[in-house]
Amino acid sequence: MNSQPPSANQGPLDQVPPDPGPPEQFPPNDSRPEAVEQWTLRQAQQQVDTWIATLGVRYFSELTNLAQLMEEVGEVARILSRTHGEQSFKDSDKQARLSDELADVLFVVICLANQSGIDLQTALAENLNKKSHRDATRHQKNEKLRG
Ligand SMILES: [Mg+2]
Repeated sequence: MNSQPPSANQGPLDQVPPDPGPPEQFPPNDSRPEAVEQWTLRQAQQQVDTWIATLGVRYFSELTNLAQLMEEVGEVARILSRTHGEQSFKDSDKQARLSDELADVLFVVICLANQSGIDLQTALAENLNKKSHRDATRHQKNEKLRG
């Protein structure tokens, strides 16, 4: 048994590097779950832009992306219609996941924002601020929401 106390001057393999803190910007296409959990909307836009520039070659035109957005929203509708509506699942529908289809919608929204020069981080903050003022009492007064 080693009775020596741990030395503060251990070999380089025993030393723990200092915590660098959260990175300012993730490396391109870093989609590890621990990295994604910390993404801001702005970082998500950067990740999609990097993905488009590398694996996607280039953005589809805005009109093509609009059609893609409608297609992906339709896939969300298909799942919700079967889980919350009266429509039944076909065997081919059963593996579809709402989370994946919502991510598809978000991906295309981000593409449209990127190619339109829109910072979604700022846009969402401004939008929520607008809703907070415009609809400050609207939903509170809506009897249909209570009950
Ligand atoms: Mg889809």
